[in-house]
Amino acid sequence: MFPSQIELLKSIKSHNIKANSAGSVYFCNQNQVFLNLETMIELDNITRSFGTLQVLKGISLNVDRGEVISITGPSGAGKTTLLQIMGSLDKPDGGRILYDGQDITRMDEKELSAFRGKHIGFVFQFHQLLPEFTAQENIMIPMLIAGTGMKQASSRATELLGLLGLSERAQHKPSELSGGEKQRIAVARALANQPDVILADEPSGSLDTKNKEELHKLFFNLRDQLGQTFVIVTHDESLAAMTDRTIHLLDGAIKP
Ligand code: ADP
Ligand code: MG
Repeated sequence: MFPSQIELLKSIKSHNIKANSAGSVYFCNQNQVFLNLETMIELDNITRSFGTLQVLKGISLNVDRGEVISITGPSGAGKTTLLQIMGSLDKPDGGRILYDGQDITRMDEKELSAFRGKHIGFVFQFHQLLPEFTAQENIMIPMLIAGTGMKQASSRATELLGLLGLSERAQHKPSELSGGEKQRIAVARALANQPDVILADEPSGSLDTKNKEELHKLFFNLRDQLGQTFVIVTHDESLAAMTDRTIHLLDGAIKP
């Protein structure tokens, strides 16, 4: 690290800055400073059509490490399609997606699925927890798929349950949890493999006001505590207003 960067870190720390400066995000809590020096995700002219319907018309977008961005727009604007492409669940017809400079559009299915498991966490509108497994087991599943041993996966799941204030719910099955708890378990599952980014598609769309607010607070706590990056598709204006940056999508294009 260059001396100027150290000075910058010190100055950020002393001023407790949470700001967007020259395209980079700096933020800190009492103990740590996160300083972004690089773009984490780069979407370059992404296009996607379904038949004759062009759903994404050349989307270019950068996401910095530690950033929380929201994507808003009317129903049918292409938000879910964009998020699925960003998460490598769907392939674009044209354009490139770089994670830390690595072009994932060149990967084959096997490489992609390994990449996805390790680097990307997903949270959907409906929790999509497996009903026959406990909260703890649901959180362990992505780790077991990625090859983590049973003991280590179990202890990390316990740690995540603690972090999210859900220790008491570890042995409950989804049907025994409230809507808010299920979404928080889904967030814990998304965090399991310490992903670079969590992609969330209307994560609070099925929650009441109180649980919605709690979930939104959780995203920002995780950013402050872990430096976690989020891209969140949302209809919720109060959530969008809290994020570092809002991308407005209209008819498959970013509204300037
Ligand atoms: P949003 O999430 O903004 O509501 P979507 O990305 O889900 O929008 O959808 C954008 C448009 O693409 C819609 O018109 C939708 O019907 C269409 N679409 C999405 N997925 C498919 C698909 N797999 N096949 C055909 N059309 C699709
Ligand atoms: Mg959608």
